[in-house]
Order: sequence, then C-alpha cells, then structure tokens
Amino acid sequence: MKVFGLFAALSLLVLGSVNSVSAQETKIRWFGHAAFSITTPRGKVLLIDPWLNNPSNPAAKEGKDPSASVPKVDYILVTHGHRDHVGDAVEIAKKTGAALVCNPELAGNLSKLAGFPEKQAGTDAIMGIGGEIKIADGEVTVAMTPAVHSSSVFNPKAGPTEAERAYGGNPAGFVIMIKDGPTVYHSGDTAYFKDMETIGEQYQIDLALLNIGGHFGMEPRMAARAAQSVRARLAVPQHYATFPGIAQNADEFAAELRRLKVPFYEMRPGETVTFRGRRMTRK
Ligand SMILES: [Zn+2]
Repeated sequence: MKVFGLFAALSLLVLGSVNSVSAQETKIRWFGHAAFSITTPRGKVLLIDPWLNNPSNPAAKEGKDPSASVPKVDYILVTHGHRDHVGDAVEIAKKTGAALVCNPELAGNLSKLAGFPEKQAGTDAIMGIGGEIKIADGEVTVAMTPAVHSSSVFNPKAGPTEAERAYGGNPAGFVIMIKDGPTVYHSGDTAYFKDMETIGEQYQIDLALLNIGGHFGMEPRMAARAAQSVRARLAVPQHYATFPGIAQNADEFAAELRRLKVPFYEMRPGETVTFRGRRMTRK
C-alpha cells in the first residue's frame, strides 16, 4: 500500500507537471505583412500592427472578413501611424473592446481622425519609447523601443485646407515579455541602427520579428544584421511580399542569417507557431 501510495503520488506529480507545461503554451500567428497575434498562456490576445486586410492574408481572400478570425482581442499594439500598420485597428477595437498600446500622439490622432474608441485609447497602456508597462494582469510586460522611420496618421478629412497627414509621434518597436512564454521583439518599420545591440544586451530575445522588405525600412542583409545585434534565438521575417517595391521573398535574408549562424524560420501567412515556455515547438 505504501509503495502504491508513493507511486500514485509520483504519477500525480508527473501528470501535474505535464498539465502545467501544456498550460504554458504561447501561440503566435502571422497574418502577413507586419500583423501578428500573440495568445498568452493565460489566454490573453495581443494584436500587433493589425492590417488584416493585407493581400497576403488568406483570411482576407475571396471577400472574407478577416476580423472574424480574431473574435477576442485584449490589446492592439501599433508601432506607428502608417496605414499598413494601423490597418483595421479601429474596426477591431470597436468589435472587441481592445485597449490601444502606442504613443500618446498616435493614440490622440487615431481617436480624433480615425474614430478609434476614445476610452480604449486613453488607458495606462499609452506609453513612450524607453518605457515599460505591465498589461494582461501582469502576465505581459511591453517595452517600447526606438525605430528609425517616420510616423503619421492619414486624415480622412484631407482637402485643400486640411493636411493629408497628422502627427503620429515617434515610430517604435516593441519587446513583449510573456510570463512563462517567450520574449518577442517586433521591429516596426525601422532602419538598422547600432543600438539594437543594446536591445540584445538588455532583453533575452527568443523571437525577433524583423521587417526585411527594404525600400521603406531594413534591406534583407541589414535585417539579418539586426537579428544578430538583438541576439535573436530565432529570426522570423515580416513586412515583405505584400506590395510592389518591397522584397518578394525571404531568400536573401535566410542566406545572410545562415552566414551569421542565426536560426531562421519562415512563417507562411496565416500560420500559427507554438512556444512552450521560451522555445518554439514544431506544431
Ligand atoms: Zn510599413
């Protein structure tokens, strides 16, 4: 009996740890372009640069409404004000009640000009570069990092006496630290800058989502250098093959990463990858 008791206790212990491992899954989905969702181990959903109606997103093809694929969203993170990053933020915010995470100038003008629900754009989640906030009941810490780019909000009232674009604050990137999950860096639309090394020194980047399209931001070779600078444990390309003028595939990025010996994974638009703790598992 005693032996059986010990065995039962051990099995419970093992089962318990198996359960807690499966409870520590983080799911990361790419919608094409710069749009990702992160579902945390406790089920909170973060959406980054939600241009879900981009031409690469399989959920937007054949007249489908891609916002139907994100029925629950808790936070919408926007790196800067350009249309291919703000995307469908307003519509999704209205549907889901999600709070906006971005800089104050962008939040103000998205409310004023684009109709983003004001009380979802004026929470403690409005932040500035260099700052860190805790969201999702403390499960997620978001750091806002610099990005070398521009940022403006398109003005729907543009006309002879109204400017085409309004101020969007400074463009940014995000480091997203998930409790019992990975630390994810989303670079926004940045150029390469040498201080990315500081990001790599300061945070343990498990996954770097890097803009590789060139023309408006990092060219593939510099994006590979960025992966090395932030010391990415895994580099995933984004912001390419969406519209003319930006790189149409990730081959050059992949080749350069091989040379630099940085692990690489190419997601397909619509694909979801799973992290168990800080490591990506093969689905
Ligand atoms: Zn862009």
